[in-house]
Order: sequence, then C-alpha cells, then structure tokens
Amino acid sequence: MNLLLYGAPGSGKGTQANMLRSHFGIPHIATGDMLRAEIQAGTDLGRQAQPILAAGKYVSDDIMIGIVRHRLGEPDCAPGFIMDGFPRTVPQAEALDGLMTELGKRFDRVIYLQVPVEELLHRLSGRLVCPACQRTYPPVTTACEADGSPLVQREDDKPEAVRPRIEIYLEKTVPVLDHYRGGGLVSEIDGRGTIEDISRQVLAAANVRVVKRQTA
Ligand code: ADP
Repeated sequence: MNLLLYGAPGSGKGTQANMLRSHFGIPHIATGDMLRAEIQAGTDLGRQAQPILAAGKYVSDDIMIGIVRHRLGEPDCAPGFIMDGFPRTVPQAEALDGLMTELGKRFDRVIYLQVPVEELLHRLSGRLVCPACQRTYPPVTTACEADGSPLVQREDDKPEAVRPRIEIYLEKTVPVLDHYRGGGLVSEIDGRGTIEDISRQVLAAANVRVVKRQTA
C-alpha cells in the first residue's frame, strides 16, 4: 500500500502518518524529518539545509528528489510506504511520477487533510515538539506523553518562519494537488476535529482502495 499524505504545514500529516505506520506496518517517509536528522548529524546537506528550514523556505527540488529517490530504493519500502512532505512542488510531483514508474509502483491513495489558513497559523505558532519522536503538542504540554522527553519549539515554528511557510505552501504546493486530482485518487478529509475522528476517516480512505483492489 503506497499512500501520499498531502496538506499544509500544521494540517496534522505527521500525526496521521504515525497512526498509518502502526496500522499498516509500513515506513513513514517524512522529508522534513529526514532533513532535520541531517541537520542534527551535522552533514554537508544538513549545514546547507539549516538556514533554509529556519527561514521557512524550500530546499531545492534537485536535492529533495535525490533524497527521495534514494529512500524509495531501500528494501523496507518494498511492501509500501507513507509519503509525507513530498512532493511539495510541481517539478517534484513530476519527478516522483517518473520515479514510481521506474520502480514499478503507484500510489493507492492521496489523502488530503484540509485545514483553513487561519487555523494553520494558530496551530503552528506555539506548537511544541518532542525532539525524540517528533510528536507535536499544544503549548500547554511540557513533556512528551510517549517518552517523557522535554518538549521544544521547532525553529521553523517561531513566528517569523510560520507566515513564510504558509505563503510558500500556497504558492508552490497548492498546485501539486491538481497534479493528482485527475487520477481520481484524492480523498479530501476535514482536518478539524478530534485526532481519533480524523484517523477513522483517514483509515477509511486508505482502505477504500484496498477493498477495491481485492474485489477487482
Ligand atoms: P511542515 O510540513 O510542518 O512545514 P516538514 O517537517 O514537512 O514541516 O518540513 C520542514 C521543512 O523542511 C520545510 O519547511 C522545508 O524547508 C523543508 N522540506 C521538507 N520537505 C521538502 C520538500 N519536499 N521540498 C523542499 N523543502 C522541503
């Protein structure tokens, strides 16, 4: 099962991707987490990417396509994967089409978590994250409920980076959805509501495809 999670920063993709990973036992490919790991490890790529992330801008298409190409070729992706944070631009979407064809794979479903811009701005400013497992929490929480780590604020959740992130999303990433709409693969889900309720809808959307394929 190959799933693509699509939505703005703060729409809840990470939370739902974690749920899908536990449910289906397939890897979660989150390009933002991969970049943050490179920054943490102090690699050349990490050093290059750090100021870009801090400013809320996008890392170049060439770099991102290279990262995803390498990751999708790893053996744990063979039974399926959950893609989160890629493609973020139309050239990335076009490159991903080519890559999927090369690998003999296709997406079973594109799940779009829809959240209005005002709600995104509210969620991102003040959001805290667990540095160990990347779960996010509202500002009232101080420690991760899963592993007890003290929560921190992501550099790009600081107020000066939140607005540029939303602006670049509206400009570069919104057109990516049209790229997938034609194929009839997109399930739109209202990203407002309880996490459990949204998870139920996300699972239902993912399973629609499985059921269809089994009966076909
Ligand atoms: P969010 O969706 O919450 O903004 P992510 O963790 O997915 O956060 O990504 C964080 C940052 O990593 C982005 O703002 C961007 O700078 C960089 N990034 C991640 N994925 C991509 C991508 N596919 N193309 C370009 N930049 C990316």
